[in-house]
Amino acid sequence: MAVKNVYFFGNGKAEGDAAMKNTLGGKGANLAEMTNLGIPVPPGFTISTDVCAAFYENGKKYPAGVDKQVLDVLTRLEKTMGKKLGDPNDPLLVSVRSGAPVSMPGMMETILNLGMNDRSVKGLAAKTGNHRFAWDAYRRFIQMYGDVVMGVPHEEFEGAISDMKKARGVRLDTDLRAGDLERLVDEYKRIVKESARKEFPQAPMDQLWGAINAVFGSWMGDKAIKYREIENIKGVKGTAVNVQAMVFGNFGDDSGTGVCFSRDPSTGKNEFYGEYLMNAQGEDVVAGIRTPEKIASLAKENKAIYNQLVGIKNKLEKHFRDMQDMEFTVQQGKLYILQTRNGKRTGTAAVKCAVDMVAEKLITKEMAVLRVSPALLDQLLHPMIDVNAQKAAMALTKGLNASPGAACGRIVFTAHEAEAWHERGEKVLLVRKDTSPEDIGGMVVSQGILTSTGGMTSHAAVVARGMGTPCIAGAHEVVVQGKTMSIGGRTFNEGDWITIDGSIGEVYEGQLPLVTPEVSKDMSTFLRWCDEIRAASTRGNLKGFEVWTNADQPDDAKRAFQFGAQGVGLCRTEHMFFDKEKLTHFRAMIVAETEAERKEALKKILPLQQKDFFGIFKAMEGKPVVVRLLDPPLHEFVPHTPEETAELAQHLNVSVDSLKTKIDKLHEQNPMLGHRGCRLAVTYPEIYDMQVEAIALAAAECVKQKIPVRPEIMIPIVITARELKLLRPNAEAILKRVFAAEGVKVDVKIGTMIEVPRAAIRSGHIAKYADFFSFGTNDLTQMTFAFSRDDVASFLPVYLKKVVLDVDPFKSIDEEGVGFLIENATQQGRAVNPKLSVGICGEHGGDPATIDFCYRAGLSYVSCSPFRVPVARLAAAQAVLNNPPARKAAAKPKVPAAKKAAGKKAADKKPAVKKAAAKKAVAKKPKKKAAVKKIAVKRFAEKRPAVKKTIAKKTVVKKAAAKKPVAVKTKAKKADKKVRTSGSAKKPAVKKAKK
Ligand code: ADP
Ligand code: MG
Ligand code: MG
Repeated sequence: MAVKNVYFFGNGKAEGDAAMKNTLGGKGANLAEMTNLGIPVPPGFTISTDVCAAFYENGKKYPAGVDKQVLDVLTRLEKTMGKKLGDPNDPLLVSVRSGAPVSMPGMMETILNLGMNDRSVKGLAAKTGNHRFAWDAYRRFIQMYGDVVMGVPHEEFEGAISDMKKARGVRLDTDLRAGDLERLVDEYKRIVKESARKEFPQAPMDQLWGAINAVFGSWMGDKAIKYREIENIKGVKGTAVNVQAMVFGNFGDDSGTGVCFSRDPSTGKNEFYGEYLMNAQGEDVVAGIRTPEKIASLAKENKAIYNQLVGIKNKLEKHFRDMQDMEFTVQQGKLYILQTRNGKRTGTAAVKCAVDMVAEKLITKEMAVLRVSPALLDQLLHPMIDVNAQKAAMALTKGLNASPGAACGRIVFTAHEAEAWHERGEKVLLVRKDTSPEDIGGMVVSQGILTSTGGMTSHAAVVARGMGTPCIAGAHEVVVQGKTMSIGGRTFNEGDWITIDGSIGEVYEGQLPLVTPEVSKDMSTFLRWCDEIRAASTRGNLKGFEVWTNADQPDDAKRAFQFGAQGVGLCRTEHMFFDKEKLTHFRAMIVAETEAERKEALKKILPLQQKDFFGIFKAMEGKPVVVRLLDPPLHEFVPHTPEETAELAQHLNVSVDSLKTKIDKLHEQNPMLGHRGCRLAVTYPEIYDMQVEAIALAAAECVKQKIPVRPEIMIPIVITARELKLLRPNAEAILKRVFAAEGVKVDVKIGTMIEVPRAAIRSGHIAKYADFFSFGTNDLTQMTFAFSRDDVASFLPVYLKKVVLDVDPFKSIDEEGVGFLIENATQQGRAVNPKLSVGICGEHGGDPATIDFCYRAGLSYVSCSPFRVPVARLAAAQAVLNNPPARKAAAKPKVPAAKKAAGKKAADKKPAVKKAAAKKAVAKKPKKKAAVKKIAVKRFAEKRPAVKKTIAKKTVVKKAAAKKPVAVKTKAKKADKKVRTSGSAKKPAVKKAKK
C-alpha cells in the first residue's frame, strides 16, 4: 500500500494527533488533537509535510498516489458535511491553510472560501437566502486566490473595490450591496484575466490543486526562506496543507470571529484574554477596519457562547499544560475552534505562567524551568521600548544586538562631549565608529552606545554589557563624520534624539517611550528553582554547576552578587586603571625606563589597587574572586591625544618630545600578539609583584575585619608550563611574606587562563603549576580562528550567510574547534590535577548554547557579566535538565502520570530538537553532531522576540517559551534526580570526536 500522506479529521475522530507535528505541522496536528478531544472543529484533512519534502526533491512533482488520497479524503469530507465541492445548489466551501512544524506567523499562505464559482455562488445565495453574503464570499475568494495563486497584485483588487465604494458613495466594504459585489466579481475576474492572462478557474478541483500548489510553493517563497534564515530554523521538512470546511463568522449578528488566549500573554495573569468581532470573517479582525471587542464583552453579548469558549480554553490548557492561543468562529450561534497552539508571551508572562502553573499542579518545576527561554528572562532585566510605540516606529537601521535593553538620548560623538553634556544634565547616547579604553568615562554616563563597526566582543560591546548599558555594535549603515551621523539618506546632528533597542539591534529616530519591567517575586521563586536544579546536578564526581560573574569594580560585584552570582570568575585589573588618578600613575609606570622608576610608579598604584580589591572581596562575602593580573598590551594605556601627552609630560617632569619618543618605542605592529599578559611579567616581574602584594594586603585587611575572603590569582596569556614555573614562585613568595607580616592565614589559589591554543594543547603540563583553569574564550576563539574579533564584520556575515560557519563563534562557542580544545584541556588538566577547578570567563559564559556546552564539557562554572547572571542561572539549569547523566537515561524511563498526556507527545514533535543519544557522563566527549544541532535550536530560542505584532492576531511576541517543547521529562518530586525519557534512543549514533 502506498505511504499514507493525507490524514482526515472530523466527526469527533482524527487520524492524526498532537504528537505528529513533524508530519502534520503544528496547525494540523492540533486540529487533529482537538477533534479527538471532542472540541468542535470544522472537519477537514491534512496533507503531510512529507509531501512537501518530496515535492521539492522531485522537481516539484507530487509522489504517486497523493492525488488519489486527496480525492478519497475529499469524498469523505463531502459525506461528513453533506455538501459537495462546487455543487451549484449547495456548495461545500473549504479553506486551504499552511502549517509547518514550527510556527512561521504570516510567512505562508491561506486561502478561504475555495469552491466558489459562477454557479456555486448562486447556489450559496439561494441556500442561505443571503445574496450579499454569497457574492461577498466569491469576491473575497477571487481576491485571495488571484493574489496568492495567480500572482495578481492585490493593489489591483483593492483599487477596484475602492472605486466601487466611491461610485456608491459609501465608506465601508460592508456598505456594499449584493448587486455591487456581483459587479465587483466581474471586475475582479477581468483583472485576473488581464493580469494573469488566464481565466479565473471555475473547476473546484483545479482551484483546490492550485491552492495546494501555492501553499507548498510558499514554503520556498523568499519571505519564508528569509524567515527561517533569521530565526535559524533548520531541519524542518516542509509545510503541511490543511484543507478544512469553511465556517462563516460573517453570517449576521449571531456570527462572529475572534482570537483568544487562555491567559493574558503580556502579564501572564490567569485571565481569559482576547478580542472578537461579530459579523466578521477572520481577516477582518486583522485588517483593523473595525475595532474588535474585548473577549469579556462576549459574556454580555452571548453568554452561552462565552461559557462554551471558557470551557474549551480550560480544557485545552489543561490538556496541553500550557497557555493556549486560539482562533474561533461562531456561525449562527454555533462555536468552532479553528486553531490552537501554545501562546507566545512576554518575559513577564512567561515567568508568571510558569510559576503559577507549578502552583496549580499543571506542570512540574522542571517543566517550568525548561519553558522560559533565557532570552525572555533577559527582557525582564532591562528597560524596553513601549510595545505599541515600537510597533508604530520604523527602524532607521539594524546592527548587532550587543548589549540588551532600550535607551534613548541625545546624540554625542565623543566620550568627552558625552561627559560635558551629562554634566549639564542631558541624557546622551554615544555614537562612534568604535570605542576604546579611554572612552570609558563617556560610556559610563551614556544611556546607550551605538557603534558603526565592531562585533559582539568589540570594546564597546564588552564594556556596555559589563555596565548593563544598551549597545548596538557594527551598525555599518551608520556613517559618522565629525559631528554628524548619516543613515541611508538621513543626517543627524549632535543633540538630536535617537532611541536604540540593544536587544534586537534596531535604531529609531526621536524619543520612544521606555518601560522598565518590574522584577517580581515570581522571578525570584523561578530562579530559586533554577538554583536548586543546578546545585543538585551531578556529573561523575562533579557536583553542581555554578554561575559566577565577571566584575572589575566593587559596584559590579555587588550587583552581580544580588543577581545571584556565586563567585567572581574574572576581575580584570586593568579596567581599574581607567580611573583618572590610577591612569596617570599607570602611564608613568609604562613609560618608565628603569626598574627603579617603574617601581616608584607601581608603589603609588599599589594602595589604589588594594582598595579596589578590598571592595570586591567585601562585596562577594567570602565567595571566590579570581583576580586576573595585568593582561593587555601596555600601549593601550599610553596617551593618545596631544593634550594627554602634554599633561603626562608635565606630571613626569619631562619634555613632550622625549615622552613621545618613549611612547613610540612602545608601538607594536600587532599588539594583541605582542608584549602582553604574563609576557609583561616575564620581562618586568615587578608589575605582577605589585599586584599580588595588593591582593595579599586586601585579603589581610578582610581577615582583620572578619570578612570572609577567598582570593584566587589568575595569570593570563600563558603558552607554556614554564611561564608558570617561573611566575608562580614569585607570587607565592609575596603572599607568604605579606601574610606573615600581617599575621594572617589566607588560602590563595593560583591558576591560569587558557586562551592560547598552545596552552590548551599543553594543558596537562600547565596543570602541574595551576590550581585552576579558566577558559578565556574571546582570545581562544580569536586565536583558534585567526579572526581578529574587531575586524570580523567585513566577512563573518557572509560566512554565516553562505553557511561556511553555522554560528558567530564570538557569540556561541564553536564546539568543534574551540570546544574541542576546551574539552581536551579540561581532561588533560584534570588527569594531572584531579582537584583542578575549571571554568569559563569569556563573553561566551553568558550565552545559553555555550552554557549547555560547558555543562557537557564538565566545567565547574560559567562566569558572565553581572546583568547576564540571572539568564545564566536559567540557562545553566536548563543545561542540567537537558543533559541528564547517562546512567539515568538508560534506566527505565519513568513518566510521572502528570505529564503523560501532553508531555510524551511533545518529545518527538519538535523538529529541530534532536537530542543525542543518552549523553555520556562528565569528561566524555559529547556527540559532536548532536551538539551542533543543539546550538541551532538554542540560538533559535535565544533570539529576542520582536515585540511588534498586535496582540489580537499574531500574538504579542514572536519567540516564546512556548516554542520549547517539553523535550525532556523530569520528575515531579523536589530533590529528585531528573529522569530523561525523551525519544533519545531514536537518534542514530553520531561520529565520535577524536581523542
Ligand atoms: P495563519 O496561520 O496566517 O493564522 P490561518 O490558516 O490560521 O492562517 O487562517 C487565516 C484566518 O482564516 C484565520 O483567522 C482563520 O481562523 C481563518 N480560517 C481558516 N480556515 C477557516 C475555515 N475553515 N473557516 C473559517 N475561517 C477560517
Ligand atoms: Mg491562524
Ligand atoms: Mg584574553
